[in-house]
This record gives sequence, structure tokens and C-alpha cells, in this order.
Amino acid sequence: MNEKTVFQKILSREIPAPILYEDDLVAAFHDINPQAPTHVLIVPKKLIPRVGEAEPEDQATLGALLLAAGKIADQLGVKDRSKGFRLVINHGRDAGETVPHLHVHLLAGRSLDWPPG
Ligand code: AMP
Repeated sequence: MNEKTVFQKILSREIPAPILYEDDLVAAFHDINPQAPTHVLIVPKKLIPRVGEAEPEDQATLGALLLAAGKIADQLGVKDRSKGFRLVINHGRDAGETVPHLHVHLLAGRSLDWPPG
């Protein structure tokens, strides 16, 4: 059996992390190495290694990740357009992926550059 990802260990509470949001398909917690005042990771409970490897059967899970992002942004007070937030998904080496478990980064709390580095 493959080693569990760090995010699976957080989801199963083997690694303690405050869960900010949870529903049937996804959960969210703070990034351990925040790149902005608000940096939350939203992860599917099902292990999908990366977004480009999602299957048609994952459609509801993919939708749940984005719906959760809006709810969490609201919960954290950054949904208003006068503030705002950015969602990032890294797929593969060139994008900087380090954890092979699909996750959406929700970044907020400062002005974010575009284009990204
Ligand atoms: P990525 O580079 O897109 O694969 O993002 C992986 C993210 O997971 C990085 O921003 C890490 O800081 C974060 N991370 C790694 N381990 C943990 C952990 N135990 N708890 C919370 N975030 C983590």
C-alpha cells in the first residue's frame, strides 16, 4: 500500500491541524508555511494526486473545492470585492507542486502580484 500523503494524515487526524471547513467531499486547513496573511489549503477527501489526473467521476469533488473556497473566503472576511482572494492549483514540477494530493491554495490578506512568479 502506498504511503499516505501528509494531507490524508491531516484528514484522518493523525497530524493535528485545526479544520476550518469540512463537508462530505472536501476539508480545509491553514497552510503550514503561509505565503500571505491568509493561506488556506482546500483538499478533496478522495486522493486525487493532481488536477490533470482527475476523472469525469470527480466532477462533483472538483466543484466542491471551488464552492468551499467561496464559503471559506466569506468565513474569513475576504470575499468582498474590496478585499478579495486568489485560488492556485499547482500541477507538476514546473508549477511548484510539492504534495501529490490535489489542493487549492486560497491566498488573501495582501495585494498579490500578477503575473505570478
Ligand atoms: P504545493 O507546492 O502546491 O504542492 O503546496 C503544498 C503546500 O502544502 C505547501 O504550501 C506547504 O506549505 C503545505 N504543507 C505541507 N505540509 C503541511 C502540513 N503538515 N500542514 C499544512 N500545510 C502543509
